[in-house]
Amino acid sequence: MTPAPISAAPITQDVLTIPRKTPKGGKPNLVGMTRDQMRAALIAAGTPEKAVKMRLGQVWQWIYFWGVRDFDRMTNLAKDYRALLAEHFVVEVPEVVTKQVSTDGTRKYLVRIAGGHEVEVVYIPETDRGTLCISSQVGCTLTCTFCHTGTQKLVRNLTAAEIVGQVMLARDDLGEWPNPGDRNVETRLVSNIVLMGMGEPLYNFENVRDGMKVVMDGEGIALGRRRITLSTSGVVPEIARTANEIGCLLAVSFHATTDEVRDVLVPINKKWNIATLLDALRDYPNLTNSERITFEYVMLDHVNDSKEDAYRLIELLRGIPAKVNLIPFNEWPGAPYKRSSGNRIHAFADILHNAGFSTPIRTPRGEDIMAACGQLKSATEKQRKSALKNAPKATAAE
Ligand code: SAH
Ligand code: SF4
Repeated sequence: MTPAPISAAPITQDVLTIPRKTPKGGKPNLVGMTRDQMRAALIAAGTPEKAVKMRLGQVWQWIYFWGVRDFDRMTNLAKDYRALLAEHFVVEVPEVVTKQVSTDGTRKYLVRIAGGHEVEVVYIPETDRGTLCISSQVGCTLTCTFCHTGTQKLVRNLTAAEIVGQVMLARDDLGEWPNPGDRNVETRLVSNIVLMGMGEPLYNFENVRDGMKVVMDGEGIALGRRRITLSTSGVVPEIARTANEIGCLLAVSFHATTDEVRDVLVPINKKWNIATLLDALRDYPNLTNSERITFEYVMLDHVNDSKEDAYRLIELLRGIPAKVNLIPFNEWPGAPYKRSSGNRIHAFADILHNAGFSTPIRTPRGEDIMAACGQLKSATEKQRKSALKNAPKATAAE
């Protein structure tokens, strides 16, 4: 088959971060604040300093352990303290606009955030785990040529509240919060989180870090750091910070074995090339054999899937505790590539296996609802585009 044409795309980065407070003088949202921030906010609202430790613990548990958002239901707080909280704060998560459930059980939520923007969140149930794929930005500034999100211009970074809120709204939908008074939490429907939705998490580092700190906090949602995987296209300066300040597992969108091809597939490679990226990964703090870096490798027919590529990959990964996750390309309307054949994918995997690498082939999930990796793009954006396409020329040009 003829290789798909590939062309270099420009790198742009015009990231806009909105302040933590609700816009237009609204009350601050307690969701998404780190413990230190919430402590300061409670004091500023009139909580006496000597009571703040206890109050913080109580409010934190209501919000993140019990999933309670209504101050009136926080029954171990005095009535007038509940009134004080209600006067100063809100406890809000983003609104779910639509939910789609795939024939394989995958759920995709279209979520509306402040400003009317939308992001997608995907829940993937498996026998031994439930993985929630969350977004870190609306759109993406990067323009990886195989990624649907990459065709959507970045609108803005998500706040820490919006990042944590995605986990909370999924737990709402799955009915995962414990029953009142029942502390023996056995259910773990959302047992793992992957930052593999829309956006480049390392271009929104602080908010992703703060959001993940909240999610990992042992008094609340309490997901261990090894249950969180952050996927980056290769933002080299932030890689060591990911280990030091978040401590979660790392996945890297590698996708090519020569700079020539990676420059096109993952254009950030023009800024930090393969050698620079691998140096940063070799230095990834605390890396042990039990905590390997996942190298994601999208299988694009006759673009990056040859046997030579597999052998080159083995050489490149030498000395790095690595596992390779092969992702059969998920096609989207207008995509310039085709998925590699099963034979080519298996031949590639075998070469890596024989060299000692764990090389799972990712099973695409939720394809019928366009929930698979790299297919996410906000529905309004899609509708807007198709409206423009279908509109009479004069209107479209306006
Ligand atoms: N921006 C981050 C995280 C989001 S993308 C990153 O690039 O790593 C999550 C994963 O899906 C990445 O490995 C990405 O390269 C991959 N991906 C993107 N589009 C895809 C597609 N159409 N088919 C299969 N995988 C895709
Ligand atoms: Fe952005 Fe990741 Fe898609 Fe590249 S693969 S455009 S970095 S979301």
